[in-house]
Amino acid sequence: MYKTLAINAGSSSLKWQLFEMPEEKMLAKGLFERIGLPDSKSTVKFDGDSHERTLDIVDHRQAVLLLMDELIHFRLIHDFREITGIGHRVVAGGEYFKSSTVISPEVLEKLQTLSYLAPLHNPANILGIEAFQRLLPDTLTVAVFDTAFHTTMPEEAFRYPIPTRYYEEFEVRKYGAHGTSHKYVAHEAARVLGKPLEELKLITAHVGNGASITAIENGKSVDTSMGFTPLAGVMMGTRAGDMDASVLPYLLEHDDSLENAQQLIDILNNQSGILGVSELSSDMRDLEAAMERGDKKAILAYRMFVNRLKKYIAEYFGVLNGADALVFTAGIGENDTLVRQDIVKELSWFGMALDPELNIQGANGIISKLDSKVKVLVIPTNEELMIARDVEFFRK
Ligand code: ADP
Repeated sequence: MYKTLAINAGSSSLKWQLFEMPEEKMLAKGLFERIGLPDSKSTVKFDGDSHERTLDIVDHRQAVLLLMDELIHFRLIHDFREITGIGHRVVAGGEYFKSSTVISPEVLEKLQTLSYLAPLHNPANILGIEAFQRLLPDTLTVAVFDTAFHTTMPEEAFRYPIPTRYYEEFEVRKYGAHGTSHKYVAHEAARVLGKPLEELKLITAHVGNGASITAIENGKSVDTSMGFTPLAGVMMGTRAGDMDASVLPYLLEHDDSLENAQQLIDILNNQSGILGVSELSSDMRDLEAAMERGDKKAILAYRMFVNRLKKYIAEYFGVLNGADALVFTAGIGENDTLVRQDIVKELSWFGMALDPELNIQGANGIISKLDSKVKVLVIPTNEELMIARDVEFFRK
């Protein structure tokens, strides 16, 4: 019996889950918010209770110390040594890391050189790794990459049709993201369908605040909607997704409020998507409440969101030359009956039909009609469990 921590460190946050392995039992989970800001917050949840504290946490190192104190305080562990493995989510592994990797000084050095691929995420992930390494230097520590699952994409899918030297000299290509989630739900879908993953063609739709679609064949990602960075692909809560690149220089030239390209990229990342079009909220629940009030911008934002999702899903029916199942996951994919209903209805030509009652019950498993040629599934994602499993893999 081992206790493994799955860690997802952001620039001002640190999310964690504690597992008992190999039983895969989640013992507790929690989160530190506003690290480095006044009134930081710590939340610890276990046994149906939530324990919250407000205090000033200056950096990730202090957050990790506090986490270990809280684990002891709540008797989730009795000694630091009970933690025998730590898995860290790392957003970008570039072309170098094709699978989860035990962290050594050399690996950490290589990770630092890849930060340009995910400037918002990788430096924060590294802060988390370093904070734990200072406290628990001898504990097995594994980096689990969002991009690793997508390193199986063929070159015809991952290259951009721009001069070759941009790939060769600058490594500009599609890397994708959400790989841990796509991989997890693909495995679960195969289990639910009672078939080996290697015999299935799947389209997985991770639709949360961030959203991406992946085409999976023989258990391998063959194409995915996110690109060089997680800005590409479908429309998202605050991200634009794919658009004509000519818009960027045009806006830089004509909008006097824009000072540089980075400012425009920030707008495409943080002020676009559902938020940008609805001028209301990035949150699907707020959007649907506004639609019920007849808010025209909200209705348009919703229509655009469904339109972009269905186009990518349809494209992947083409990439795979047909699919056995469409799998929905993440906040919207798991919970939003309307989005699922509209997407499947508008793609009915491909041989999918929802069972309306199963769609409303949602939760977990098949939600298509018995005679639906392409099955439709809802599978709650569990990236943390996937991380804990990858740590377990290296223990063997
Ligand atoms: P993140 O990418 O931040 O992890 P999530 O996967 O948590 O995002 O998804 C957040 C999105 O899921 C929000 O748009 C939220 O409105 C939506 N969502 C969560 N629960 C529901 C629900 N019950 N019905 C509709 N949408 C939901």
